[in-house]
Amino acid sequence: MGALDSKLVDAFRLIDRLWAENFAPRIPKDVDDWADENRILPAGSAEQGPWRTDRTPFAREIYKALSDSDECQEVVLMTSTQLVKSEAGLNWLGTCIEETPAPMMIVQATVNTGKRYSRQRVGPMIQNCPSLRKRVSTVVSRDSANSVSMKEFLGGVLIITGANSPAELASMPAKYIHFDEVDDYPNDVGGQGDPISVATARQDTYRRSKRLLSSSPKKPKGESIIEARYDAGTQEKFYVPCPHCDHLQHLVWSHLKWLKNEIGEHLPETARYACESCGVLIDEFHKEKMLAAGVWIAKYPERKKICRSFHLNSLYSPLGWLSWQDMVRQFIEATVALAKGNDEKHKTFINTRLAETVAEQAEQLAANELQEKAEDFDPSIVPMGGLVITCGVDVQDNRIECFPWAFGEGDQMWMLKPEVIMGDPGDEATWKLLDAYLYTRFKHASGQTLAIDAVGIDTGGHFTHMVYNYVRRVDPRRKISALKGDNFKPGIPIYGRGSTVDVNWRGEIIKGGCKLWMVGVNTAKDLLNNRMKRPGMVHLSKHMPAEIFDQLAAEKRVAQRTSRGIRNMWVKVQSNARNEAWDGAVYALWCAERMGLSKYPKKVWEQIRERVQPLQDSLFNQPAAEKPEVKQVMQPKQPRAVSVRRESLVQKFRNR
Ligand SMILES: [Zn+2]
Repeated sequence: MGALDSKLVDAFRLIDRLWAENFAPRIPKDVDDWADENRILPAGSAEQGPWRTDRTPFAREIYKALSDSDECQEVVLMTSTQLVKSEAGLNWLGTCIEETPAPMMIVQATVNTGKRYSRQRVGPMIQNCPSLRKRVSTVVSRDSANSVSMKEFLGGVLIITGANSPAELASMPAKYIHFDEVDDYPNDVGGQGDPISVATARQDTYRRSKRLLSSSPKKPKGESIIEARYDAGTQEKFYVPCPHCDHLQHLVWSHLKWLKNEIGEHLPETARYACESCGVLIDEFHKEKMLAAGVWIAKYPERKKICRSFHLNSLYSPLGWLSWQDMVRQFIEATVALAKGNDEKHKTFINTRLAETVAEQAEQLAANELQEKAEDFDPSIVPMGGLVITCGVDVQDNRIECFPWAFGEGDQMWMLKPEVIMGDPGDEATWKLLDAYLYTRFKHASGQTLAIDAVGIDTGGHFTHMVYNYVRRVDPRRKISALKGDNFKPGIPIYGRGSTVDVNWRGEIIKGGCKLWMVGVNTAKDLLNNRMKRPGMVHLSKHMPAEIFDQLAAEKRVAQRTSRGIRNMWVKVQSNARNEAWDGAVYALWCAERMGLSKYPKKVWEQIRERVQPLQDSLFNQPAAEKPEVKQVMQPKQPRAVSVRRESLVQKFRNR
């Protein structure tokens, strides 16, 4: 080869290199590679400094799916909170801005949460990554190309909006869309359909467009958006090897085991995972190696080109994050609440820690079942254990019905004999009769007598002003309240806000006027229903008339479609069914909530018990049907003298 030839070859090589560097199409980096090279976590974050995908090994495959090199159109993350979702969204965003710039959109549940996400997550990420800072205009002002809800960068623009804004969702075509916390989305946006479809329609103009849908499940089974999308995809789960037998398995809650001590108390610090193959208990410190050796396995690999869906629960949290023993602690707390009829914490645990939906069955109590479970006690005498009496009052057009309930420690409640006061509620005389009844002292099985501690009267009927008149007149120490049921807002607390309804002719609030209290009816009915289904919490007497059981079972819980999505509400099974006893129980429960009975410390209950049930044999403990003469023979005992110090602790709780 001559010198000329060799020079020519060199020249061609140079041309090749220049072409490759300047004109040849560049292969964009994958999301994990971009993040490992460029992402810096700001000071103050849990793991500040340069990003390390290896810290969360399960995230790498998710990042590959989000990368330009993977041809799937949709990535679905149904995962626990604070595990992988939000960082995946941010790392994908950073990679798109630098590697494949195009119009992008981030959709949060509302425009406001979108603004917060922009300020708290997107802004700081750009600020902390020098490579992004160079590309995104960082001047923030109202009219510049860079605001909280819009950020321009070289080759594209990012819009951050909310699923509640139809105009913005359809405002511009976007190649990449991140739909975040999709289970918080409304079912319909401005009458145009579901927000995901509205925005996705604008992706059609782009070839190789991609979207990310992420959320922990928050809606019940069958209604959860994230679960429906997960089911439609590849359904990938993360399999990790057992350190003892190498068997690959995906971690499930039922395999987490822990010990109890000799008195039956849980010991969360003993939590270990039972291998599904060899059965050996795996200590949590093995997790780092297990995660590093983990693989994603798809149930439907043939769907990989369309939608890759990933499920991950908190059992996979890297060491130093949420530990197995913390999860056991949260689970025990939720189980204790559930045993008391409160299922909120349990649902939250399943949704946010296990990333699973909860099946909501239609709820209805059966009158015959209630009757079968009813106990043998005289409802005109407060049984042992019943220590505080509250009374729900229902005003009908020709009568007033009173439903007294006794409450005791551990959220136990006993329905006492209802009272019907016949008469026109428009007539003062009827209210005098009610007043006399509310002064009744109930006989207690201990031989003492008990007064009614609190009363709630429904104002929902035709005699609202008569209720106000009565409530205004009575001594406030009698704790008689005017109530209004809020049927339409589910999820509000049983004991909510009160508002002063008495105003003078100038519209000024009258001091000491009547207050109207809103009752979270659906919440109260959920709680009552849960308690009734559990043994030993709600005590009904088999000596009650049959129609009382019918009334207590007059409603069912159904899912109703509202403007804000599907909500569960209690409605009558038959529209003409009578439900006074059920409503009465709700108002009596409201009184108990207002008095804070479920929060009374054990000590306070002990002191009330000492006063109401001094150590003695129950005098009225026998069912009245069997020994009717007992009532007439025995005189109620005088209350025992109670020391001043004891009185004050009980009073402190009673007077709240
Ligand atoms: Zn094993």
